[in-house]
Amino acid sequence: MFGAIYGDIIGSYYEVHCTKNYDFTFNKDSTFTDDSVLITAVCKAISINPNEISKLKIYSRAREYAAQYRYYYSRYPNAGFGNMFSDWAKDPYSKNGRSYANGGAMRIIPIGYAYDTLDQTLIQTKASCIPTHNSKEAIRGAQAVASAIFLARHNNSKRYIKEYLEKTFKYNLSLSISSIKETHVFNSRASYSIPPAIIAFLESSDYESSIRNAISLGGDADTEACIAGGIAEAYYKEIPENIKRFCDNRIDSSIKNIVREFIDRFSIT
Ligand SMILES: [Mg+2]
Repeated sequence: MFGAIYGDIIGSYYEVHCTKNYDFTFNKDSTFTDDSVLITAVCKAISINPNEISKLKIYSRAREYAAQYRYYYSRYPNAGFGNMFSDWAKDPYSKNGRSYANGGAMRIIPIGYAYDTLDQTLIQTKASCIPTHNSKEAIRGAQAVASAIFLARHNNSKRYIKEYLEKTFKYNLSLSISSIKETHVFNSRASYSIPPAIIAFLESSDYESSIRNAISLGGDADTEACIAGGIAEAYYKEIPENIKRFCDNRIDSSIKNIVREFIDRFSIT
């Protein structure tokens, strides 16, 4: 879980100061952003109600996720939320939004860890998207990321994960980071930014190279590193101490506590 939050933190500086340099330095102005806040909201929603649901209950479960999104937005309104999300979160009666951006995918990292089956993982992911990202494109992207985490934490090979995602979600994951990099820009659209974030993991050799791959794409760096880092942690199961040290004192303690509680409860190593 912290793998995603660390990706968000290290990427936060480069979301604004885009870089194509793989060997970028960790900047002292790095901070957690909306990605980490909403991951915390999803941890909380699952801790309050860890039960599995049937497809029939998807809209009532979506309301539980929505309540936590609004609450955590109200706690951290200046964490870098987009205008569309802020408008939605400020209005307790707002209708489900139909964003096609990557915000649905960045926050579902905990769902990839919490459930015993891939089916339930996909249902919960859809429910978590409905309040703000109720579009085919956003749900597909979020489900692809949740599946990657689920498969990675069950020790599936990169080759299997890649083939499964390509077959199920019709993503082309055969491009190389260096070729994507040539034209990649800041664009939060799910179908534009999520496949490169997954490739950043597929082409990595460890946790750190995953987030370096993602950030040096020069795009939506915090969110792409959050996604790549989330999958990488599930796969490699370890994060270098220097990254932990750099990021840990940049996370608000109440976020840290909720995420740690979630990790303990679901016995995530
Ligand atoms: Mg962000």
